[in-house]
Amino acid sequence: MPTLRGAMHTIHRPIPTKPDAEPLDAGFLEAVVAGAVRLTPEQSFRLYTEAPLHTLARVADGVCRRIHGPSIRTYVKDRNINYTNVCTARCTFCAFRRDGDEADAYTLEHSAIEDKVAELVAIGGTQILMQGGMNPALPISWYEELLRRLKSKFPQVHIHAFSPPEFIEFVEYFDPPGDSLESKLKWVMVRLREAGLDSIPGGGGEIFAAPVRRKIGLGKCDAEAWLTTMFVAHQLGMFTSATMMFGHIEGLADRVHHLELVRSWQDKALTELPGAGEPGVSGAGHYKAFISWPFQRENTPLGRLPEWGDDPAELERAFPGDVVARLDGEGDARAEALFGRRARMAGATEYLRTQALSRIHLDNIYSIGASWVTMGPAIGQVGLRFGANDMGSVMMEENVVSAAGTTYCLDEQVLCRLIREAGFVPAQRDNTYDLLRIHDGPESPDLLVRDWSAHRTKRLHIQGPTNSAGSAPVELTTSLE
Ligand code: SF4
Repeated sequence: MPTLRGAMHTIHRPIPTKPDAEPLDAGFLEAVVAGAVRLTPEQSFRLYTEAPLHTLARVADGVCRRIHGPSIRTYVKDRNINYTNVCTARCTFCAFRRDGDEADAYTLEHSAIEDKVAELVAIGGTQILMQGGMNPALPISWYEELLRRLKSKFPQVHIHAFSPPEFIEFVEYFDPPGDSLESKLKWVMVRLREAGLDSIPGGGGEIFAAPVRRKIGLGKCDAEAWLTTMFVAHQLGMFTSATMMFGHIEGLADRVHHLELVRSWQDKALTELPGAGEPGVSGAGHYKAFISWPFQRENTPLGRLPEWGDDPAELERAFPGDVVARLDGEGDARAEALFGRRARMAGATEYLRTQALSRIHLDNIYSIGASWVTMGPAIGQVGLRFGANDMGSVMMEENVVSAAGTTYCLDEQVLCRLIREAGFVPAQRDNTYDLLRIHDGPESPDLLVRDWSAHRTKRLHIQGPTNSAGSAPVELTTSLE
């Protein structure tokens, strides 16, 4: 019988590398599964590009089972609140942003945000994920008042909010005291934490390699600033997550480089910060989870790029992103004239391979999330056999990705059924991955359902009145396809 777990789950014992080992060797991969050795970036790249899909699945699943055990896979009840769509950045993959003077630009009133949290609490939700565009019109007092208001009304709700690019812009907008980026970030973060901020989401990670980031993340912070922001949060004892959005102009080596940066900064947090060193536990902040998803192209400038392979003659050459990408992130965009001018979209197989590699490479990160929001529930479910331990959130609302074409939205019963039909016991977790309810009895949400038709198409939420990107009702578009 599974039991509820303790509060800390992070893995931080040093794991050696074996750079001379053949990455596809069965004995070597067994040692990786056992956590006795970690992959170098070169080995991860070869594993990713040469291993059969089933090998990646087996190794990732083995690592997942070592960390999470054989039976329980989790989900959380939270709500994604996008408080403003006004943004100074112009990411080419974004269909959500607006200039401040556009007719459908919006910033939610504090009362409207409070109403959304009240709806979440009514269904037993435990967390909000709150991110915005980067809106220069909002002073720090707007954020502090919002956080204080939410914390005083809903002290039980965990506030997971403001991604690193937002913090970098906060430093710009609020002009905090300090003589370094770190000290300025710390000033802002402490103010917001004192007002009620609990942890920081990994939005804006995209792809860290500079040649890619410069092409797709116009006006958004670079990798160094992103990672530094998270490290400051870790210094303050906060948990964060990390993300990667792939399947556009990047090369495969860029994905491995991205994973390697997350892993090395996690090592730094787990070994250098106060509290590190206790067996199986870190008192300091660190990355708790990693989630990756493929780029969604609809309504975005990046999505209008010709797809690699539309012109079959081009396939005789290497994909431009692969020509430029290097495992050290030092690729030169000038190495290929078509770099940034062709997209290579990721399908289901590519998604599963990438997620599996993230589980295998990120041996110091506790949770890997399956991305059904973008991939659909069936692929998300398969993802539980490719290294993911968590199905993410019962979605009440999602605006940023859905503005680029995604409308998948599942309720708790469907999420539980997906997990159970993948061969696991579903369990609701909280934001720190403690288990709140293990659904192993007849009262489980999915086992109480008699009529699944009511869970196939269900209007869950209508986005606020001024956001055209999110104004269409979000449908429960699919459940058990
Ligand atoms: S992805 Fe985020 S930071 Fe980039 S333009 Fe859209 S809202 Fe702004």
